[in-house]
Amino acid sequence: MKDIYDVVIIGGGPGGYAAALYCVRAGLDTLVLEKLSAGGQMATTTQVDNYPGFDEGIDGFELAEKMQRGAERFGAVTEYAEVTALDLKAVPKRITTSAGEVQGRAVILATGASPRMLGVPEEAAMRGRGVSYCAACDGMFFRGKTVAVAGGGNSAAEDALVLSKICKKVYLVHRRDTLRATKSYLGPLEKAENLEFVWNKQIDGLQATDGQLTGISMTDRVTGERSTLPVDGLFVAVGRVPDTDLVRGQVDLDAEGYMIADETTRTSVPGVFAVGDARTKPMRQIITAAADGATASKFVEEYLQQL
Ligand code: NAP
Repeated sequence: MKDIYDVVIIGGGPGGYAAALYCVRAGLDTLVLEKLSAGGQMATTTQVDNYPGFDEGIDGFELAEKMQRGAERFGAVTEYAEVTALDLKAVPKRITTSAGEVQGRAVILATGASPRMLGVPEEAAMRGRGVSYCAACDGMFFRGKTVAVAGGGNSAAEDALVLSKICKKVYLVHRRDTLRATKSYLGPLEKAENLEFVWNKQIDGLQATDGQLTGISMTDRVTGERSTLPVDGLFVAVGRVPDTDLVRGQVDLDAEGYMIADETTRTSVPGVFAVGDARTKPMRQIITAAADGATASKFVEEYLQQL
């Protein structure tokens, strides 16, 4: 890692690496800071079927590696380090990481999002003791067992399908009587013989023996009736929260914590751009994150020319 780059991209998901590819091809000295491994949320998806160009779909981890290699082929540099502090108003901008300090004439924030918690008592303590937020990562620990998936969006649908191939029984527990997931999930979900929908139920408690999950308690949102369901695992897939704590107080955020940026990806701070799931936008997908990355490069170039 050098002392200063034209552009420092924080986050190595599809938004970050698309930005890196476009910036480096525009002749900008480009650094990507990634704390773990490329791909972000995408890397925990076993089958990506809605990113064009892969006629049989592709594993999310593999797609992430391809995106990283694609940007590095032209000279983008990846540093595996955690960003601990930012001074975005400084010129150039200062970034403190676990691997030292670096400066960027421009910064692209591609920090993504993390799973939202269900909000039941003892949830945090039960994480890793039967409660999980990633079916692709933890599903194998529940081979032949009974699990519940909480949620009604694309993540819940996807997780339920992944788990139906591993587990003995999967309950898809949703607080309403229709899924908000994309229609293409419905056929496969209905076909899975070991999958059962549990409608109109709000999960409001966890049961455990010796610190290990044994069941969930639920309230019917129509009748008010209370019930329990014995399960070995609970996979929570009830949405995402943007990873924007680092920039709070520096970049304008909306009420839910997303960085406010329009289609130019410009934020409230000159020279700071926001791409992907962590910015305000109507659709959060791999393809829209990648599109943001490409767009950001154009406005980064424009900003750097004015410096
Ligand atoms: P989401 O679309 O926001 O859905 C969250 C689901 O959780 C909703 O069904 C919601 O219920 C439910 N929920 C929220 N809070 C809850 C609570 N406290 N208790 C019980 N249920 C609760 O979130 P997501 O499925 O994680 O997806 C996030 C984004 O990633 C979306 O834009 C999605 O399209 C995208 N994504 C795309 C794919 C794909 O294209 N293959 C795959 C995964 C994710 P209500 O329906 O009642 O609001």
